[in-house]
Amino acid sequence: MYKTSYYDDFKCIGSECPNSCCVGWEIDLDIKTFQKYRDLHDSNINKCISVNQKPTYDKFAKIKNVKDQRCSFLDKNNLCNIQKKYSEKLLSPTCSNFPRRKVDFGSKQLSSCLLSCPEISRIFFADNEEFKIIDDEKKLVDTNLKIIPDEFRNNLYAVSGERVFNFLYKLYNSSDISLEKCLMITNQIINEFSNKKIEPHELNEVFKYIKSFFLNHKIEKKIDTEMQLNFLKKFFRCFLNKKINNKLSELINKLYADCFLNRDLKKIKLLYEKNKLHNFNQFLIKHPNIFKKFFIHEFFGKTQLLTNEDFDSNDGFYLIFFIALVSKLIIILNTLYKDKIVVEDFIEVISLVSRYYGGKDNLDKDEKELVSKDNQTFVNLFYLFFG
Ligand code: SF4
Repeated sequence: MYKTSYYDDFKCIGSECPNSCCVGWEIDLDIKTFQKYRDLHDSNINKCISVNQKPTYDKFAKIKNVKDQRCSFLDKNNLCNIQKKYSEKLLSPTCSNFPRRKVDFGSKQLSSCLLSCPEISRIFFADNEEFKIIDDEKKLVDTNLKIIPDEFRNNLYAVSGERVFNFLYKLYNSSDISLEKCLMITNQIINEFSNKKIEPHELNEVFKYIKSFFLNHKIEKKIDTEMQLNFLKKFFRCFLNKKINNKLSELINKLYADCFLNRDLKKIKLLYEKNKLHNFNQFLIKHPNIFKKFFIHEFFGKTQLLTNEDFDSNDGFYLIFFIALVSKLIIILNTLYKDKIVVEDFIEVISLVSRYYGGKDNLDKDEKELVSKDNQTFVNLFYLFFG
């Protein structure tokens, strides 16, 4: 097994959690957990669960939500009644596994956690260290992960995906390569790879060529605050149209009202630009790896995007980029009146955005339209992010 270096350090902070995973989601019960609950003959539990209309083995029933989308097993101190009254062993796999995620290759598994858990984001982003992967013996694996086990190594697409991941792992952990270059190289490699233009034996040569091409390529950067604010405004409207009720929608609602409704937009633009060029840049100087860590962490947690032909690796990459983009712009807008931006501001937003978008494999149609102008999704994301 390969896992992220923080994996074993995680401990749920329960009632201290600023955004409990037991609020805002409908939690599925598999048939085994459902039966265990029935066997308790506890009317307080029975009234909290309902069988799905089309029950399946994994999604046989669900736990009902009560007011404010709280799980009905949650007490007023945000502690789980099942755990309190019975045992942790009675939790459903959905509850006991969260926030852990696994990419399963049979005899090989890749384990990481979801950044939507604020405690995971806190552990992961709290230091400036690079992203680290360890093996079963807790030894650091800094290069050449053998992700695809022997029994599947005749699948050339999967083996090529493994090489792509290893290349990206090294690239994003190189302290002398900027995020801009990393993203351009990633985009080019994923394009070539997903078009299946490269034979597996040619991969190393192609990687080398693409890397050296983009390292020598001059990037034209243009500050474009207006474009970012227009994007944010459209994104906020699109998100609020979904009529979702969670902490991200609360934050977006507040920012939309504070910054875009009946406001002096010129003043907001000035404040935003000042915050971006001063406070946010200061924040990045203090945490130079923070977005590189985010990207490579997500590639690791979703390695299937690179190794499984059924997934569109371009779409997967755009989704990860979209989460980074939306998080960055919201952080700037959310800190307009602060003296400085700290890592807690970053963690708060990235975990909220990851909570909604992190579990998906690609963007919803509405969001896709926001960034796919002229069929140039990567270019649009890139200029919005660095603008
Ligand atoms: S989100 Fe994370 S820290 Fe918060 S309650 Fe869930 S598992 Fe615990």
